[in-house]
Amino acid sequence: MPSCEETRLALWPEPGPRRPSAELCAAFDHYTQCQACQNFFALQRELKERLKRAGRATVAPRELREQVYAELAAARVAEVSRRRRLTALGAVAGGAAAVVAWLLFYQPAPSAERLAQPFVDEVLREMPQGMVAQADSRILARWFAERLGHAVPVLDIPGAELVGGRIAYIEGVRSAALHYRAWGMPLIYFVVPGTSLLGREISEDELVILSSRGFEVVVWREPEALHAVAASLQRSELMAIADECRRKLRGAT
Ligand SMILES: [Zn+2]
Repeated sequence: MPSCEETRLALWPEPGPRRPSAELCAAFDHYTQCQACQNFFALQRELKERLKRAGRATVAPRELREQVYAELAAARVAEVSRRRRLTALGAVAGGAAAVVAWLLFYQPAPSAERLAQPFVDEVLREMPQGMVAQADSRILARWFAERLGHAVPVLDIPGAELVGGRIAYIEGVRSAALHYRAWGMPLIYFVVPGTSLLGREISEDELVILSSRGFEVVVWREPEALHAVAASLQRSELMAIADECRRKLRGAT
Protein backbone atom coordinates (compact mmCIF):
# COMPACT_ATOMS: atom_id res chain seq x y z
CA MET A 1 0.00 0.00 0.00
CA PRO A 2 1.51 3.39 -0.92
CA SER A 3 1.99 6.07 1.74
CA CYS A 4 -0.17 9.19 1.95
CA GLU A 5 2.56 11.12 0.18
CA GLU A 6 2.84 8.64 -2.69
CA THR A 7 -0.95 8.54 -2.97
CA ARG A 8 -1.20 12.32 -3.24
CA LEU A 9 1.52 12.46 -5.85
CA ALA A 10 -0.07 9.66 -7.87
CA LEU A 11 -3.60 11.09 -7.76
CA TRP A 12 -2.67 14.76 -8.08
CA PRO A 13 -4.47 17.01 -8.95
CA GLU A 14 -7.72 15.00 -8.66
CA PRO A 15 -8.54 11.40 -7.82
CA GLY A 16 -10.71 11.35 -10.97
CA PRO A 17 -10.86 9.09 -14.05
CA ARG A 18 -7.54 8.26 -15.67
CA ARG A 19 -5.91 5.41 -17.58
CA PRO A 20 -5.51 2.72 -14.91
CA SER A 21 -2.13 1.41 -13.81
CA ALA A 22 -1.17 -0.81 -10.88
CA GLU A 23 0.33 2.22 -9.13
CA LEU A 24 -2.78 4.31 -9.66
CA CYS A 25 -5.08 1.52 -8.42
CA ALA A 26 -3.01 1.11 -5.26
CA ALA A 27 -3.11 4.87 -4.71
CA PHE A 28 -6.87 4.90 -5.22
CA ASP A 29 -7.29 2.02 -2.72
CA HIS A 30 -5.31 4.04 -0.21
CA TYR A 31 -7.42 7.13 -0.95
CA THR A 32 -10.75 5.32 -0.42
CA GLN A 33 -9.55 4.09 2.98
CA CYS A 34 -7.68 7.16 4.19
CA GLN A 35 -9.58 10.05 5.72
CA ALA A 36 -6.50 12.29 5.71
CA CYS A 37 -6.04 11.92 1.95
CA GLN A 38 -9.75 12.44 1.30
CA ASN A 39 -9.62 15.63 3.35
CA PHE A 40 -6.52 16.72 1.48
CA PHE A 41 -8.21 16.44 -1.92
CA ALA A 42 -11.47 17.93 -0.63
CA LEU A 43 -9.49 21.00 0.48
CA GLN A 44 -7.77 21.20 -2.90
CA ARG A 45 -11.15 21.13 -4.66
CA GLU A 46 -12.52 23.81 -2.39
CA LEU A 47 -9.51 26.01 -3.03
CA LYS A 48 -9.88 25.55 -6.77
CA GLU A 49 -13.53 26.55 -6.61
CA ARG A 50 -12.71 29.56 -4.51
CA LEU A 51 -9.98 30.68 -6.89
CA LYS A 52 -12.33 30.20 -9.83
CA ARG A 53 -14.95 32.38 -8.17
CA ALA A 54 -12.35 35.00 -7.22
CA GLY A 55 -11.01 34.87 -10.78
CA ARG A 56 -14.33 36.02 -12.13
CA ALA A 57 -14.23 39.16 -10.02
CA THR A 58 -10.57 40.06 -10.25
CA VAL A 59 -8.43 40.22 -13.33
CA ALA A 60 -4.68 39.74 -12.92
CA PRO A 61 -2.88 43.09 -13.28
CA ARG A 62 -1.42 43.68 -16.69
CA GLU A 63 2.22 43.49 -15.54
CA LEU A 64 1.56 40.12 -13.96
CA ARG A 65 -0.10 38.74 -17.07
CA GLU A 66 2.74 40.03 -19.23
CA GLN A 67 5.28 38.47 -16.94
CA VAL A 68 3.53 35.10 -17.14
CA TYR A 69 3.39 35.31 -20.95
CA ALA A 70 7.07 36.23 -21.07
CA GLU A 71 7.96 33.25 -18.92
CA LEU A 72 5.94 30.92 -21.12
CA ALA A 73 7.60 32.31 -24.23
CA ALA A 74 11.08 31.94 -22.68
CA ALA A 75 10.30 28.33 -21.77
CA ARG A 76 9.25 27.63 -25.36
CA VAL A 77 12.41 29.19 -26.80
CA ALA A 78 14.52 27.11 -24.41
CA GLU A 79 12.71 23.96 -25.53
CA VAL A 80 13.27 24.72 -29.23
CA SER A 81 16.98 25.44 -28.76
CA ARG A 82 17.33 22.22 -26.75
CA ARG A 83 15.80 20.28 -29.67
CA ARG A 84 18.15 22.05 -32.10
CA ARG A 85 21.12 21.06 -29.98
CA LEU A 86 19.94 17.45 -30.02
CA THR A 87 19.68 17.54 -33.83
CA ALA A 88 23.15 19.06 -34.03
CA LEU A 89 24.38 16.25 -31.83
CA GLY A 90 23.07 13.73 -34.38
CA ALA A 91 24.95 15.53 -37.16
CA VAL A 92 28.29 15.26 -35.39
CA ALA A 93 27.77 11.70 -34.20
CA GLY A 94 30.65 10.67 -36.46
CA GLY A 95 33.08 12.88 -34.58
CA ALA A 96 33.29 11.03 -31.30
CA ALA A 97 35.62 13.59 -29.73
CA ALA A 98 33.16 16.40 -30.38
CA VAL A 99 30.38 14.36 -28.80
CA VAL A 100 32.43 13.62 -25.71
CA ALA A 101 33.31 17.30 -25.32
CA TRP A 102 29.68 18.30 -25.71
CA LEU A 103 28.57 15.81 -23.07
CA LEU A 104 31.22 17.03 -20.66
CA PHE A 105 30.40 20.70 -21.00
CA TYR A 106 26.68 20.68 -21.64
CA GLN A 107 24.90 21.27 -18.36
CA PRO A 108 21.24 22.01 -18.81
CA ALA A 109 19.96 24.78 -16.54
CA PRO A 110 17.60 23.26 -14.00
CA SER A 111 14.00 23.95 -15.04
CA ALA A 112 11.57 25.86 -12.85
CA GLU A 113 9.66 22.65 -12.31
CA ARG A 114 12.83 20.87 -11.17
CA LEU A 115 13.81 23.75 -8.85
CA ALA A 116 10.35 23.78 -7.27
CA GLN A 117 10.34 20.04 -6.65
CA PRO A 118 12.20 19.78 -3.31
CA PHE A 119 9.90 22.42 -1.80
CA VAL A 120 6.72 20.88 -3.18
CA ASP A 121 7.79 17.43 -1.99
CA GLU A 122 7.97 18.91 1.49
CA VAL A 123 4.55 20.55 1.22
CA LEU A 124 2.92 17.31 0.08
CA ARG A 125 4.29 15.33 3.02
CA GLU A 126 1.54 14.15 5.31
CA MET A 127 1.66 15.12 9.00
CA PRO A 128 5.44 15.31 8.83
CA GLN A 129 7.76 13.57 11.21
CA GLY A 130 9.50 15.65 13.84
CA MET A 131 6.89 18.38 13.59
CA VAL A 132 6.56 20.53 16.70
CA ALA A 133 3.11 22.05 17.00
CA GLN A 134 3.82 25.46 18.46
CA ALA A 135 2.02 28.66 17.62
CA ASP A 136 4.20 30.88 19.81
CA SER A 137 6.74 32.44 17.50
CA ARG A 138 9.32 33.10 20.25
CA ILE A 139 9.29 29.52 21.50
CA LEU A 140 9.50 28.25 17.92
CA ALA A 141 12.42 30.56 17.13
CA ARG A 142 14.30 29.20 20.17
CA TRP A 143 13.46 25.62 19.13
CA PHE A 144 15.03 26.21 15.70
CA ALA A 145 18.07 28.03 17.07
CA GLU A 146 18.83 25.07 19.35
CA ARG A 147 18.59 22.56 16.52
CA LEU A 148 20.12 24.49 13.64
CA GLY A 149 22.70 26.61 15.44
CA HIS A 150 21.51 29.77 13.71
CA ALA A 151 18.60 32.14 14.09
CA VAL A 152 15.45 31.53 12.09
CA PRO A 153 13.03 34.44 11.81
CA VAL A 154 9.50 33.34 12.67
CA LEU A 155 7.43 35.95 10.90
CA ASP A 156 3.90 37.03 11.42
CA ILE A 157 2.30 36.55 7.99
CA PRO A 158 -0.94 38.49 7.47
CA GLY A 159 -3.85 36.18 6.67
CA ALA A 160 -1.90 33.12 7.78
CA GLU A 161 -1.84 31.36 11.10
CA LEU A 162 1.32 29.82 12.52
CA VAL A 163 0.90 26.09 13.18
CA GLY A 164 4.39 24.82 13.99
CA GLY A 165 7.76 23.95 12.58
CA ARG A 166 10.15 21.17 11.79
CA ILE A 167 13.49 20.41 10.21
CA ALA A 168 13.23 19.72 6.48
CA TYR A 169 15.86 18.67 3.98
CA ILE A 170 15.94 20.73 0.80
CA GLU A 171 18.28 18.94 -1.60
CA GLY A 172 19.99 17.43 1.44
CA VAL A 173 20.45 20.78 3.20
CA ARG A 174 19.18 20.88 6.78
CA SER A 175 16.59 23.65 6.68
CA ALA A 176 13.81 25.19 8.73
CA ALA A 177 10.22 24.62 7.63
CA LEU A 178 7.64 26.84 9.31
CA HIS A 179 4.09 25.64 8.86
CA TYR A 180 1.25 28.11 8.51
CA ARG A 181 -2.33 27.82 7.37
CA ALA A 182 -3.67 30.38 4.93
CA TRP A 183 -7.31 30.15 3.79
CA GLY A 184 -7.42 26.64 5.24
CA MET A 185 -4.48 25.51 3.10
CA PRO A 186 -0.94 24.69 4.22
CA LEU A 187 1.67 27.35 3.56
CA ILE A 188 5.29 26.59 4.35
CA TYR A 189 8.05 29.10 4.91
CA PHE A 190 11.52 27.66 4.32
CA VAL A 191 14.90 28.94 5.44
CA VAL A 192 17.65 27.08 3.57
CA PRO A 193 21.26 27.91 4.50
CA GLY A 194 23.37 28.89 1.49
CA THR A 195 22.80 31.06 -1.54
CA SER A 196 22.24 28.58 -4.36
CA LEU A 197 19.60 26.11 -5.35
CA LEU A 198 20.59 23.00 -7.34
CA GLY A 199 23.82 24.77 -8.20
CA ARG A 200 22.02 27.87 -9.44
CA GLU A 201 23.24 30.95 -7.58
CA ILE A 202 20.35 33.20 -6.57
CA SER A 203 21.26 36.88 -6.76
CA GLU A 204 20.35 39.34 -4.04
CA ASP A 205 17.52 41.18 -5.71
CA GLU A 206 16.05 38.26 -7.53
CA LEU A 207 12.60 36.88 -6.81
CA VAL A 208 12.49 33.35 -8.21
CA ILE A 209 8.98 32.21 -9.03
CA LEU A 210 8.49 28.51 -9.52
CA SER A 211 5.61 26.14 -9.79
CA SER A 212 5.06 22.42 -9.79
CA ARG A 213 2.05 20.14 -9.40
CA GLY A 214 -0.37 22.96 -8.64
CA PHE A 215 1.87 24.63 -6.07
CA GLU A 216 3.57 27.97 -6.37
CA VAL A 217 6.97 28.57 -4.80
CA VAL A 218 8.64 31.95 -4.40
CA VAL A 219 12.34 31.95 -3.47
CA TRP A 220 14.55 34.89 -2.59
CA ARG A 221 17.89 35.44 -1.00
CA GLU A 222 18.71 36.95 2.35
CA PRO A 223 22.33 37.48 3.52
CA GLU A 224 23.17 33.87 4.45
CA ALA A 225 20.18 31.82 3.43
CA LEU A 226 17.54 31.32 0.81
CA HIS A 227 14.05 31.99 1.99
CA ALA A 228 11.01 30.51 0.26
CA VAL A 229 7.27 30.32 0.62
CA ALA A 230 5.30 27.49 -0.95
CA ALA A 231 1.56 26.97 -1.12
CA SER A 232 -1.25 26.03 -3.42
CA LEU A 233 -2.33 29.65 -3.77
CA GLN A 234 -2.58 31.98 -6.71
CA ARG A 235 0.80 33.19 -7.86
CA SER A 236 -0.06 36.83 -7.22
CA GLU A 237 -1.19 35.99 -3.67
CA LEU A 238 2.00 34.12 -2.86
CA MET A 239 4.13 36.89 -4.41
CA ALA A 240 2.39 39.40 -2.17
CA ILE A 241 3.13 37.22 0.87
CA ALA A 242 6.80 36.85 -0.15
CA ASP A 243 7.05 40.59 -0.66
CA GLU A 244 5.60 41.30 2.77
CA CYS A 245 8.02 38.82 4.40
CA ARG A 246 11.03 40.36 2.65
CA ARG A 247 9.93 43.79 3.72
CA LYS A 248 9.64 42.62 7.33
CA LEU A 249 13.06 40.94 7.26
CA ARG A 250 14.73 44.01 5.84
CA GLY A 251 12.85 46.38 8.10
CA ALA A 252 13.87 44.41 11.16
CA THR A 253 17.62 44.62 10.54
ZN1 LIG B 1 -3.48 8.76 3.18
